[in-house]
Amino acid sequence: MPLRRLPIKELLDENRYHDCEGFGKDYVCVRIAAVADLPSRYGQFQVVAFWNNRDGKEHAAFVRGDVTGGDEVPVRLHSECLTGDAIGSLRCDCRDQLEAALGAIGRMDSGILLYLRQEGRGIGFLNKIRAYGLQDHGLDTVEANIALGFRDDERDYSVAAHMLFSLKVQSIRLMTNNPRKIGGLEQLGVKIAGRIPLVIPPNPYNRFYLETKSLKSGHLLDHQGRERLLEQMDRPIVEGMDEEQGLILQQQE
Ligand SMILES: [Zn+2]
Repeated sequence: MPLRRLPIKELLDENRYHDCEGFGKDYVCVRIAAVADLPSRYGQFQVVAFWNNRDGKEHAAFVRGDVTGGDEVPVRLHSECLTGDAIGSLRCDCRDQLEAALGAIGRMDSGILLYLRQEGRGIGFLNKIRAYGLQDHGLDTVEANIALGFRDDERDYSVAAHMLFSLKVQSIRLMTNNPRKIGGLEQLGVKIAGRIPLVIPPNPYNRFYLETKSLKSGHLLDHQGRERLLEQMDRPIVEGMDEEQGLILQQQE
């Protein structure tokens, strides 16, 4: 069956005349500004560019298939990481996560990667590099953020939630190892039908960072073995396994 596509004209027409005072306590208003085809090394996608009234940033959705009206659509929320995504920094696992998510979605009939322009867990690029500098002097990732006057995680998903509403997604299966994201999105009105874990083994440079995230920020993370991964989930079904990348994709029933 050929890959379905977003109803572009319909979406653009609706968003062009979309005028609201915003939803929720933060009066968030999000509009789809442009849609285009995006063939990629991970498969055929469409890219959707969004406007919003909240953070002034140009967020994007990389969409596979026609997700409008879709239930249990696999969704990955990826926060921009210039050093990791573009440069291949080994201080974090952002690029591995991005590639694993795009690779997985690229093999599915439908799915979405929301690319959120909130660098450095929301503290911005400049402060992220400041935090790296502190970490070079012995602080861990959480301590460094706190030393700079930030919370451990400053990311905000209200725009992300509205991006999913703009795409008319009914319910999602969230690709994440971070349980806080699930609760956070549910509070924003996103219906979450399940979780798809993305587990990526650490490299020697980011092992400490990942262990800190796991210990201090509640990330579900396992790099000792697969046994613990299975305990993290309810009724897991192995959906696909890529030994080379060490990516284990599992989904709930
Ligand atoms: Zn990163």
